[in-house]
Amino acid sequence: FASRLPNVGTTIFTVMSALAAEKRAVNLGQGFPDFDCDPRIVDAVAKAMRDGHNQYPPMAGIAPLRQAISDKVANLYGRRYDANTEVTVTAGATQALLTAILATVHPGDEVIVLEPNYDSYVPSIELAGGKPVFVTLEAPDYAIPFDKLAAAITPRTRLILINTPHNPTGTVWRAGDMKQLEDIVRGTNVLILSDEVYEHMVYDGAPHESIARYPELAQRSFVVSSFGKTYHVTGWKIGYVCAPAALTAEFRKVHQFNVFTVNTPMQFGLADYLRDPAPYLDLPAFYQKKRDFFREGLAKTRFKLLPCTGTYFQCVDYSAVSDMTEADFSTWLTSEIGVAAIPVSAFYHEAHESGVVRFCFAKQESTLATALERLARL
Ligand code: PMP
Ligand code: GLN
Repeated sequence: FASRLPNVGTTIFTVMSALAAEKRAVNLGQGFPDFDCDPRIVDAVAKAMRDGHNQYPPMAGIAPLRQAISDKVANLYGRRYDANTEVTVTAGATQALLTAILATVHPGDEVIVLEPNYDSYVPSIELAGGKPVFVTLEAPDYAIPFDKLAAAITPRTRLILINTPHNPTGTVWRAGDMKQLEDIVRGTNVLILSDEVYEHMVYDGAPHESIARYPELAQRSFVVSSFGKTYHVTGWKIGYVCAPAALTAEFRKVHQFNVFTVNTPMQFGLADYLRDPAPYLDLPAFYQKKRDFFREGLAKTRFKLLPCTGTYFQCVDYSAVSDMTEADFSTWLTSEIGVAAIPVSAFYHEAHESGVVRFCFAKQESTLATALERLARL
């Protein structure tokens, strides 16, 4: 039979992690921490299991977790999502994104994607029968071309997908960007799907500009986040989506036949842990220290640093080191130099070479130091 996703192979993250393991390279490719999470959160989940929270939870998530999410978002961003009708717990952000797309995009609808973009977006749109429409962030610092974004909107546009802080570029949206988006969609029926999984990784004292802060945008938006990023537990695959009641109702119609529910003990553990704001409020300083350490080291190499104002990704221009394609350079760097990276070309829908690769700095300082020592030899 004909493939539903004829252009999809194995994700670049899986490919590069496998190569890194084979070559015993320092893996700065796939984004995940190489250090452990807070033992308190593990204890909270273990306790939930021992307390017998091991059967199906309510379809949308357990009430205490939805309430804790609602409170957190209200405290940080000033919008109160109703815990019963506007907050849904998901199996990670990936499921939240796919479900939101399946719930809103009809065959033939257009979905605007700013590229480079996270790799799950386009296959999710295609599974819904939608048509991705690409607007390319502009060199050298990945600026958002709002004139082109506005021009890309047609009567068939159903959704605009945004991501701040942005994977892979490490850039963030500022208040002025949100205002421009507000102006562009005013008077249209376009919905917004906002991927904010790196919401607690914004640096230099800047705020995270959540869609939830902007009432005009929030009333037409799904806001997605993930506990995996915030609590150093990428393998737990648990996140959530906040959206106005009418959008949430449609989201849940798909959710209940997509996953039905998300595992119960982690929800109880997280409901408990989320009550303490310190772990997420401390996160920007925690990662900024790693960013600064990594950037200081890279500044002594022949790689050219690109800006990093958010996420745990640092992009570098390697054109002074090599003229290989990004994919070849990443493979060579992993195999021969012992440091795995991700080619940024993997985040574009067609050939796009700019001599840039992405490193993940969610690593212990000793791991980053080993990688820097190897990179400095080039
Ligand atoms: N969106 C972006 C931008 C990401 O980087 C990730 C992490 N891979 C996800 C979504 C998926 O998050 P999760 O692991 O919670 O599904
Ligand atoms: N989000 C992570 C990254 O961008 C990896 C996720 C995955 O492996 N699918 O590296």
